[in-house]
Amino acid sequence: MKQYPNFYIDGQWVAPKNPEVLSILNPATEKPFAEISVGSAADVDAAVSAARKAFRGYSNWSIRERTELLESVLNQYEKRLSDVGDAIQEEMGAPTYLAQGAQSVTGINHLKSAIKSLNSFEFEREMDGKLICHEAIGVCGMITPWNWPINQIASKVSPALAAGCTMVLKPSEIAPISALVFTEILDEAGVPAGVFNLVNGYGLTVGEAMSAHPGIDMMSFTGSTVGGIAVAKASADSVKRVGQELGGKSANIILDDSDISAAVDRGVHFVMNNSGQSCNAPTRMLIPNSKMDVAIDAAKKAAAAVTVGEPQSENVEIGPVISQTQFDKIQTLIQSGMEDKAELVAGGVGKPDGLDTGYYVKPTVFAHVTGDMKIAKEEIFGPVLVLMGYEDEEDAIRIANDSVYGLAAYVHSGSVENATRVAKQLRAGQVHINYKTGDTDTPFGGYKQSGNGREKGIWGLQEFLEVKAITGLNA
Ligand code: NAD
Repeated sequence: MKQYPNFYIDGQWVAPKNPEVLSILNPATEKPFAEISVGSAADVDAAVSAARKAFRGYSNWSIRERTELLESVLNQYEKRLSDVGDAIQEEMGAPTYLAQGAQSVTGINHLKSAIKSLNSFEFEREMDGKLICHEAIGVCGMITPWNWPINQIASKVSPALAAGCTMVLKPSEIAPISALVFTEILDEAGVPAGVFNLVNGYGLTVGEAMSAHPGIDMMSFTGSTVGGIAVAKASADSVKRVGQELGGKSANIILDDSDISAAVDRGVHFVMNNSGQSCNAPTRMLIPNSKMDVAIDAAKKAAAAVTVGEPQSENVEIGPVISQTQFDKIQTLIQSGMEDKAELVAGGVGKPDGLDTGYYVKPTVFAHVTGDMKIAKEEIFGPVLVLMGYEDEEDAIRIANDSVYGLAAYVHSGSVENATRVAKQLRAGQVHINYKTGDTDTPFGGYKQSGNGREKGIWGLQEFLEVKAITGLNA
């Protein structure tokens, strides 16, 4: 059993003020493989005080010094890449190609993007006798989820370091091991004491204490909409800036001029990737009513081709979902689709054959789903796709926008011009034409209840900056 009893505060690994141990399960075996400590408000106090002390010096580092620090972190991260991948595989059951690929490599991409933004952003400029300065906002509290654990951490820590902020991170208590490896990397890279601090723990204790803490200037939260609302409410009394990256139920409009079978095939695999546990997964596929039969046929074949299995096995496309709680929630939603009389095209309740241990879910597709059904409205966060019919382009746009969420949307078309016309009418933070996704320089974030603010690239850097206007330069 791996042991991680300490937090990282003021450049040291320190024991929690009130010891409490939490076992971390491997979702593929359902067995504990590590133990961490969970903290309390007293640990948050110590971390915030270290971050406040460090802010005075670190926020005055030059662009060159901050660039050198980020380069050192990048260098160290590249050396430890496979350790990050191993941790992600064990804590969330990600298949090897994903854990050692996109899930861990994303850390490199965010660090490179932060270095690029830091060196291209105009931190000071004159405007009609005034000086406009962009300065580090202060001490940042960061709370992250388990589904892309390093992606979410690196997309906050990298730009915050670039901005000159100091920070306290509370990663997900469900998948905290990659965060501990990331902390070792920052330590080995020479991040000064107090600039980065880590306290493990639950949302309702450590997360709540951070959000309400008067010594934290900004909260950057990624997770469920319910969690994001709680953080914003707890932050309100101290008037913090709150960045929120929340849930989604993204529409995927397959326009009539598409190769329907090919577009459906790719869309199915897109949803199933990471066992359906991506906030921006295209989980509502919109099909012209006249082409629904072709789409159902293609979706059935594509779902059957998704291989589910043990994360270490070769040729496995998806592993388990994260936990018993998520497994149960997904099963309940699949059941509700059946009770609402949606047509079950593939999958269904229960585990796939031969996979009795581990939180494995059958790749599931429903067709003839209507907007009033729970499976059309709620974020399922598992390998479940719904197909919904539409009459014409206007109808497709109406259905796509008929959601409390607005994180991403997808449009598939034989003509980029047609797809762009539709994309401009969708209320979502990113719209992907023909499955071309954005990179770490592209702004990422949600409309409506999918969040506030933007991460990645210059926009991600600006999240961590305040604006100061100095007037009277020409007085
Ligand atoms: P979650 O909201 O349960 O937990 C996320 C984090 O918030 C965890 O660290 C948790 O401990 C903490 N937390 C929970 N309640 C809290 C509270 N009241 N106060 C302070 N902290 C609290 O979410 P999850 O299950 O870990 O992650 C899945 C969700 O995250 C999905 O809804 C998914 O769409 C969303 N997500 C969004 C993005 C994005 O960029 N928009 C990215 C990844 C995941």
